[in-house]
Amino acid sequence: MNKLGFGFLRLPLEDTSDNQSIDWKLMNQLVDLYISKGGTYFDTAYTYLDGMSEYALKKAVVERYDRDKIWIADKLPSWKVASHEDCYRYFEEQRNRCGVTYFDTYLLHWLNKDNYEIAEKYDEFGFLQELKANGRAKKIGFSYHDSAMLLERILTEHPEVDVVQLQINYLDWESPAVEARKCYEVAKKHNKPVIVMEPVKGGTLAKLPKQTEACFEKYNAKESPASYAIRFVQSLENVEVVLSGMNAVTQMNDNMRDMPALDQKERDMLDKVCEIIREKTAVPCTGCRYCVAGCPKGIVIPQIFSIYNEYYRYPEEDWKITPKYTELTLESGKASECITCKKCENSCPQHIEITSWLKTAAAAFE
Ligand code: SF4
Ligand code: SF4
Repeated sequence: MNKLGFGFLRLPLEDTSDNQSIDWKLMNQLVDLYISKGGTYFDTAYTYLDGMSEYALKKAVVERYDRDKIWIADKLPSWKVASHEDCYRYFEEQRNRCGVTYFDTYLLHWLNKDNYEIAEKYDEFGFLQELKANGRAKKIGFSYHDSAMLLERILTEHPEVDVVQLQINYLDWESPAVEARKCYEVAKKHNKPVIVMEPVKGGTLAKLPKQTEACFEKYNAKESPASYAIRFVQSLENVEVVLSGMNAVTQMNDNMRDMPALDQKERDMLDKVCEIIREKTAVPCTGCRYCVAGCPKGIVIPQIFSIYNEYYRYPEEDWKITPKYTELTLESGKASECITCKKCENSCPQHIEITSWLKTAAAAFE
Protein backbone atom coordinates (compact mmCIF):
# COMPACT_ATOMS: atom_id res chain seq x y z
CA MET A 1 0.00 0.00 0.00
CA ASN A 2 1.22 3.49 -0.81
CA LYS A 3 0.96 5.88 2.14
CA LEU A 4 2.09 8.92 0.20
CA GLY A 5 0.71 12.33 1.13
CA PHE A 6 1.13 15.36 -1.10
CA GLY A 7 3.20 17.97 0.79
CA PHE A 8 2.55 21.55 -0.26
CA LEU A 9 5.85 23.04 0.96
CA ARG A 10 7.80 22.86 -2.29
CA LEU A 11 5.38 23.64 -5.11
CA PRO A 12 6.25 24.20 -8.78
CA LEU A 13 7.26 27.85 -9.20
CA GLU A 14 7.94 29.72 -12.43
CA ASP A 15 10.59 31.77 -10.59
CA THR A 16 12.22 29.88 -7.71
CA SER A 17 12.93 33.12 -5.83
CA ASP A 18 9.27 34.24 -6.00
CA ASN A 19 6.76 32.28 -3.89
CA GLN A 20 3.86 34.00 -5.65
CA SER A 21 4.85 32.57 -9.03
CA ILE A 22 3.03 29.20 -8.83
CA ASP A 23 3.04 27.33 -12.13
CA TRP A 24 -0.73 26.72 -12.06
CA LYS A 25 -0.84 24.48 -15.11
CA LEU A 26 1.70 22.08 -13.63
CA MET A 27 0.17 22.44 -10.17
CA ASN A 28 -3.23 21.26 -11.39
CA GLN A 29 -1.63 18.51 -13.44
CA LEU A 30 0.19 17.17 -10.37
CA VAL A 31 -2.93 17.25 -8.21
CA ASP A 32 -4.93 15.45 -10.93
CA LEU A 33 -2.24 12.81 -11.30
CA TYR A 34 -1.96 12.30 -7.53
CA ILE A 35 -5.72 11.85 -7.15
CA SER A 36 -5.96 9.59 -10.24
CA LYS A 37 -3.41 7.29 -8.57
CA GLY A 38 -5.50 7.02 -5.42
CA GLY A 39 -3.91 9.80 -3.34
CA THR A 40 -6.14 11.74 -0.93
CA TYR A 41 -3.89 13.41 1.69
CA PHE A 42 -2.80 17.05 1.28
CA ASP A 43 -0.54 18.82 3.77
CA THR A 44 -0.02 22.57 4.12
CA ALA A 45 0.86 25.17 6.78
CA TYR A 46 0.23 28.85 7.47
CA THR A 47 3.82 29.81 6.77
CA TYR A 48 4.55 27.65 3.70
CA LEU A 49 5.47 29.81 0.72
CA ASP A 50 4.42 32.91 2.70
CA GLY A 51 0.78 31.80 2.64
CA MET A 52 0.70 30.82 -1.06
CA SER A 53 0.67 27.13 -0.16
CA GLU A 54 -2.74 27.35 1.54
CA TYR A 55 -4.07 29.45 -1.32
CA ALA A 56 -2.73 26.92 -3.86
CA LEU A 57 -4.50 24.15 -1.96
CA LYS A 58 -7.76 26.06 -2.27
CA LYS A 59 -7.36 26.73 -6.00
CA ALA A 60 -5.89 23.41 -7.13
CA VAL A 61 -7.67 21.00 -4.78
CA VAL A 62 -10.64 22.36 -2.80
CA GLU A 63 -12.24 24.23 -5.71
CA ARG A 64 -11.70 21.32 -8.11
CA TYR A 65 -12.52 18.23 -6.02
CA ASP A 66 -15.18 16.99 -3.63
CA ARG A 67 -14.09 18.24 -0.18
CA ASP A 68 -15.39 15.15 1.63
CA LYS A 69 -13.24 12.82 -0.50
CA ILE A 70 -9.94 14.49 0.29
CA TRP A 71 -8.01 14.76 3.56
CA ILE A 72 -6.55 18.18 4.39
CA ALA A 73 -3.93 18.76 7.07
CA ASP A 74 -2.97 22.28 8.16
CA LYS A 75 -0.81 23.70 10.95
CA LEU A 76 -1.06 26.54 13.43
CA PRO A 77 2.15 28.64 13.47
CA SER A 78 2.74 27.82 17.16
CA TRP A 79 5.60 30.28 17.59
CA LYS A 80 3.68 33.28 16.21
CA VAL A 81 0.86 32.95 18.72
CA ALA A 82 0.97 35.78 21.28
CA SER A 83 -2.37 35.19 23.07
CA HIS A 84 -4.96 32.40 23.25
CA GLU A 85 -7.22 34.50 21.01
CA ASP A 86 -4.51 34.45 18.33
CA CYS A 87 -5.19 30.71 17.84
CA TYR A 88 -8.75 31.51 16.68
CA ARG A 89 -7.54 34.38 14.49
CA TYR A 90 -4.99 32.22 12.66
CA PHE A 91 -7.43 29.35 12.33
CA GLU A 92 -10.09 31.56 10.71
CA GLU A 93 -7.50 33.04 8.35
CA GLN A 94 -6.40 29.54 7.39
CA ARG A 95 -9.96 28.36 6.77
CA ASN A 96 -10.48 31.35 4.47
CA ARG A 97 -7.21 30.84 2.64
CA CYS A 98 -7.97 27.16 2.07
CA GLY A 99 -11.69 27.66 1.39
CA VAL A 100 -12.78 25.00 3.90
CA THR A 101 -15.04 24.82 6.95
CA TYR A 102 -12.96 22.19 8.77
CA PHE A 103 -9.56 20.50 8.63
CA ASP A 104 -9.16 16.75 8.76
CA THR A 105 -5.87 17.00 10.63
CA TYR A 106 -4.82 20.13 12.50
CA LEU A 107 -1.36 20.34 14.05
CA LEU A 108 0.68 22.73 16.12
CA HIS A 109 3.47 23.52 13.73
CA TRP A 110 7.10 22.95 14.62
CA LEU A 111 7.20 22.19 18.32
CA ASN A 112 10.64 22.38 19.87
CA LYS A 113 11.74 23.50 23.33
CA ASP A 114 10.99 27.21 22.78
CA ASN A 115 7.78 26.70 20.81
CA TYR A 116 6.47 24.19 23.34
CA GLU A 117 6.80 26.86 26.04
CA ILE A 118 4.76 29.25 23.87
CA ALA A 119 2.18 26.53 23.18
CA GLU A 120 1.78 25.88 26.90
CA LYS A 121 1.69 29.57 27.79
CA TYR A 122 -1.23 30.25 25.42
CA ASP A 123 -2.98 26.90 25.86
CA GLU A 124 -2.62 25.88 22.21
CA PHE A 125 -3.34 22.26 23.15
CA GLY A 126 -6.60 23.37 24.78
CA PHE A 127 -7.44 25.11 21.51
CA LEU A 128 -6.81 21.88 19.57
CA GLN A 129 -9.11 19.94 21.87
CA GLU A 130 -11.81 22.55 21.40
CA LEU A 131 -11.49 22.26 17.61
CA LYS A 132 -11.87 18.51 17.82
CA ALA A 133 -14.87 18.74 20.15
CA ASN A 134 -16.75 21.10 17.83
CA GLY A 135 -15.93 19.22 14.62
CA ARG A 136 -13.48 21.75 13.16
CA ALA A 137 -10.68 19.16 13.21
CA LYS A 138 -10.97 15.39 13.06
CA LYS A 139 -7.46 14.63 14.28
CA ILE A 140 -5.12 16.82 16.31
CA GLY A 141 -1.40 16.70 16.99
CA PHE A 142 1.85 18.51 16.32
CA SER A 143 4.84 18.53 14.02
CA TYR A 144 8.12 18.18 15.84
CA HIS A 145 11.79 19.15 15.58
CA ASP A 146 13.69 18.47 18.79
CA SER A 147 15.06 15.69 20.98
CA ALA A 148 13.43 12.36 21.78
CA MET A 149 13.59 13.29 25.46
CA LEU A 150 11.42 16.38 24.97
CA LEU A 151 9.02 14.39 22.77
CA GLU A 152 8.62 11.90 25.60
CA ARG A 153 7.71 14.76 27.93
CA ILE A 154 5.20 16.35 25.52
CA LEU A 155 3.42 13.07 24.80
CA THR A 156 3.25 12.30 28.52
CA GLU A 157 1.80 15.73 29.27
CA HIS A 158 -0.55 15.67 26.27
CA PRO A 159 -1.91 12.16 25.71
CA GLU A 160 -4.93 13.74 23.97
CA VAL A 161 -3.10 14.18 20.64
CA ASP A 162 -3.97 11.74 17.85
CA VAL A 163 -0.85 11.98 15.65
CA VAL A 164 2.74 13.22 15.59
CA GLN A 165 4.57 14.51 12.51
CA LEU A 166 8.28 13.66 12.56
CA GLN A 167 11.28 14.14 10.29
CA ILE A 168 12.32 10.60 9.37
CA ASN A 169 14.56 9.38 6.58
CA TYR A 170 17.35 6.82 6.37
CA LEU A 171 20.10 9.42 6.57
CA ASP A 172 18.70 10.99 9.76
CA TRP A 173 17.69 7.66 11.32
CA GLU A 174 20.72 7.61 13.65
CA SER A 175 21.57 11.33 13.41
CA PRO A 176 22.38 12.86 16.85
CA ALA A 177 20.96 16.21 15.64
CA VAL A 178 17.60 14.85 14.44
CA GLU A 179 17.23 11.63 16.51
CA ALA A 180 14.77 10.20 13.97
CA ARG A 181 14.85 6.63 15.25
CA LYS A 182 14.60 7.65 18.89
CA CYS A 183 11.69 10.02 18.20
CA TYR A 184 9.92 7.33 16.17
CA GLU A 185 10.32 4.89 19.06
CA VAL A 186 8.91 7.39 21.55
CA ALA A 187 5.84 7.95 19.34
CA LYS A 188 5.40 4.21 18.97
CA LYS A 189 5.67 3.67 22.72
CA HIS A 190 2.85 6.20 23.22
CA ASN A 191 0.77 4.50 20.47
CA LYS A 192 0.74 7.60 18.31
CA PRO A 193 0.62 7.09 14.55
CA VAL A 194 3.40 8.96 12.77
CA ILE A 195 3.16 11.28 9.78
CA VAL A 196 6.60 11.36 8.17
CA MET A 197 8.03 14.60 6.78
CA GLU A 198 11.24 14.96 4.78
CA PRO A 199 11.45 11.26 3.74
CA VAL A 200 13.80 12.27 0.92
CA LYS A 201 15.45 14.99 3.05
CA GLY A 202 14.43 17.86 0.80
CA GLY A 203 15.67 16.03 -2.31
CA THR A 204 19.06 15.16 -0.81
CA LEU A 205 18.28 11.43 -1.08
CA ALA A 206 17.05 11.75 -4.65
CA LYS A 207 20.24 13.33 -6.01
CA LEU A 208 23.07 11.38 -4.46
CA PRO A 209 26.84 11.74 -4.90
CA LYS A 210 28.16 9.88 -7.96
CA GLN A 211 30.16 7.63 -5.64
CA THR A 212 26.92 5.96 -4.43
CA GLU A 213 26.02 4.72 -7.92
CA ALA A 214 28.05 1.55 -7.49
CA CYS A 215 25.99 0.57 -4.42
CA PHE A 216 22.71 0.81 -6.36
CA GLU A 217 24.15 -0.85 -9.47
CA LYS A 218 25.19 -3.87 -7.45
CA TYR A 219 21.71 -4.13 -6.09
CA ASN A 220 19.05 -2.85 -8.50
CA ALA A 221 20.10 -0.03 -10.79
CA LYS A 222 16.59 0.29 -12.25
CA GLU A 223 15.10 1.71 -9.06
CA SER A 224 15.55 5.42 -8.37
CA PRO A 225 17.42 6.48 -5.21
CA ALA A 226 14.29 8.39 -4.10
CA SER A 227 12.21 5.20 -4.21
CA TYR A 228 14.55 3.58 -1.68
CA ALA A 229 14.11 6.59 0.60
CA ILE A 230 10.31 6.39 0.37
CA ARG A 231 10.33 2.63 0.90
CA PHE A 232 12.52 3.01 3.98
CA VAL A 233 9.90 5.08 5.80
CA GLN A 234 6.91 3.21 4.36
CA SER A 235 8.39 0.04 5.88
CA LEU A 236 8.00 1.43 9.42
CA GLU A 237 4.92 -0.11 10.97
CA ASN A 238 3.71 2.90 12.94
CA VAL A 239 3.81 5.23 9.94
CA GLU A 240 0.39 6.36 8.73
CA VAL A 241 1.33 8.93 6.07
CA VAL A 242 4.56 9.75 4.21
CA LEU A 243 4.66 13.34 2.97
CA SER A 244 6.53 14.14 -0.17
CA GLY A 245 6.79 17.57 -1.78
CA MET A 246 6.42 16.72 -5.46
CA ASN A 247 6.84 19.39 -8.09
CA ALA A 248 7.43 17.31 -11.23
CA VAL A 249 5.37 14.65 -13.00
CA THR A 250 8.29 12.19 -13.08
CA GLN A 251 8.66 12.51 -9.29
CA MET A 252 4.97 11.91 -8.79
CA ASN A 253 4.94 8.83 -11.02
CA ASP A 254 8.02 7.46 -9.27
CA ASN A 255 6.69 8.08 -5.75
CA MET A 256 3.18 6.73 -6.36
CA ARG A 257 4.24 3.25 -7.48
CA ASP A 258 3.81 0.21 -5.28
CA MET A 259 6.38 0.46 -2.52
CA PRO A 260 7.29 -2.95 -1.04
CA ALA A 261 9.06 -3.00 2.33
CA LEU A 262 12.87 -3.00 2.22
CA ASP A 263 14.62 -6.31 2.84
CA GLN A 264 17.71 -6.64 5.03
CA LYS A 265 20.15 -6.57 2.10
CA GLU A 266 18.67 -3.30 0.89
CA ARG A 267 18.91 -1.80 4.38
CA ASP A 268 22.57 -2.82 4.56
CA MET A 269 23.16 -1.23 1.17
CA LEU A 270 21.59 2.03 2.43
CA ASP A 271 23.95 2.01 5.44
CA LYS A 272 26.85 2.13 2.97
CA VAL A 273 25.10 4.87 0.98
CA CYS A 274 24.74 6.92 4.20
CA GLU A 275 28.46 6.68 4.84
CA ILE A 276 29.20 8.05 1.38
CA ILE A 277 26.62 10.84 1.60
CA ARG A 278 27.98 12.01 4.97
CA GLU A 279 31.48 12.00 3.61
CA LYS A 280 30.43 14.01 0.53
CA THR A 281 27.98 16.50 2.04
CA ALA A 282 29.24 19.64 3.74
CA VAL A 283 25.98 21.30 4.85
CA PRO A 284 22.98 19.05 5.73
CA CYS A 285 20.48 21.65 4.44
CA THR A 286 17.10 20.33 3.25
CA GLY A 287 16.13 23.53 1.38
CA CYS A 288 13.02 24.06 3.55
CA ARG A 289 13.57 27.88 3.45
CA TYR A 290 12.44 28.40 7.06
CA CYS A 291 15.54 30.54 7.57
CA VAL A 292 15.05 32.91 4.65
CA ALA A 293 12.10 35.14 5.61
CA GLY A 294 13.74 36.68 8.69
CA CYS A 295 17.12 37.48 7.16
CA PRO A 296 17.64 41.27 7.21
CA LYS A 297 20.28 41.03 4.46
CA GLY A 298 18.15 39.04 1.99
CA ILE A 299 20.63 36.16 1.86
CA VAL A 300 19.22 33.16 -0.02
CA ILE A 301 20.75 30.68 2.40
CA PRO A 302 19.51 27.35 0.97
CA GLN A 303 20.56 28.19 -2.59
CA ILE A 304 24.02 29.19 -1.37
CA PHE A 305 24.33 25.92 0.57
CA SER A 306 23.16 23.92 -2.42
CA ILE A 307 25.90 25.48 -4.56
CA TYR A 308 28.46 25.01 -1.81
CA ASN A 309 27.56 21.32 -1.43
CA GLU A 310 28.02 20.87 -5.17
CA TYR A 311 31.44 22.51 -4.94
CA TYR A 312 32.34 20.33 -1.94
CA ARG A 313 31.48 17.18 -3.92
CA TYR A 314 33.14 18.20 -7.14
CA PRO A 315 35.86 20.80 -6.33
CA GLU A 316 37.49 20.14 -9.71
CA GLU A 317 34.39 21.71 -11.32
CA ASP A 318 34.71 25.05 -9.53
CA TRP A 319 35.09 26.79 -12.89
CA LYS A 320 31.42 26.09 -13.60
CA ILE A 321 30.10 26.11 -10.00
CA THR A 322 31.47 29.50 -8.88
CA PRO A 323 29.64 31.43 -11.68
CA LYS A 324 26.36 29.98 -10.35
CA TYR A 325 27.08 31.68 -7.02
CA THR A 326 28.02 34.94 -8.72
CA GLU A 327 24.80 34.97 -10.73
CA LEU A 328 22.67 34.01 -7.70
CA THR A 329 24.01 36.86 -5.58
CA LEU A 330 23.66 39.57 -8.23
CA GLU A 331 20.18 40.32 -6.90
CA SER A 332 20.30 38.82 -3.41
CA GLY A 333 22.59 39.11 -0.38
CA LYS A 334 26.10 37.66 -0.59
CA ALA A 335 27.29 35.18 2.04
CA SER A 336 29.84 37.78 3.24
CA GLU A 337 27.05 40.29 3.98
CA CYS A 338 25.84 38.20 6.93
CA ILE A 339 25.81 40.28 10.13
CA THR A 340 25.61 37.15 12.35
CA CYS A 341 22.34 38.22 13.96
CA LYS A 342 21.56 34.45 14.02
CA LYS A 343 17.83 34.90 13.33
CA CYS A 344 18.20 32.19 10.71
CA GLU A 345 19.85 29.69 13.08
CA ASN A 346 16.95 29.94 15.49
CA SER A 347 14.62 28.96 12.62
CA CYS A 348 16.58 26.03 11.24
CA PRO A 349 15.00 22.63 12.01
CA GLN A 350 18.28 20.93 11.08
CA HIS A 351 20.24 22.93 13.71
CA ILE A 352 22.79 24.03 11.10
CA GLU A 353 25.45 26.57 12.08
CA ILE A 354 24.39 28.79 9.21
CA THR A 355 26.62 31.77 9.99
CA SER A 356 29.71 29.61 10.10
CA TRP A 357 28.88 27.85 6.80
CA LEU A 358 28.18 31.21 5.14
CA LYS A 359 31.71 32.29 6.04
CA THR A 360 33.03 29.09 4.45
CA ALA A 361 30.96 29.68 1.31
CA ALA A 362 32.11 33.29 1.10
CA ALA A 363 35.74 32.16 1.32
CA ALA A 364 35.16 29.64 -1.49
CA PHE A 365 33.19 31.81 -3.92
CA GLU A 366 33.95 35.48 -3.29
S1 SF4 B 1 22.78 35.54 10.73
FE1 SF4 B 1 23.27 36.27 8.68
S2 SF4 B 1 22.18 34.90 7.29
FE2 SF4 B 1 21.31 34.64 9.33
S3 SF4 B 1 19.54 36.03 9.39
FE3 SF4 B 1 21.30 37.15 10.24
S4 SF4 B 1 22.19 38.20 8.48
FE4 SF4 B 1 20.83 36.64 7.66
S1 SF4 C 1 19.58 26.23 6.41
FE1 SF4 C 1 18.11 25.13 7.71
S2 SF4 C 1 16.26 26.40 7.68
FE2 SF4 C 1 17.56 27.10 5.99
S3 SF4 C 1 16.82 25.95 4.22
FE3 SF4 C 1 18.53 24.80 5.08
S4 SF4 C 1 17.59 23.32 6.49
FE4 SF4 C 1 16.03 24.88 6.05
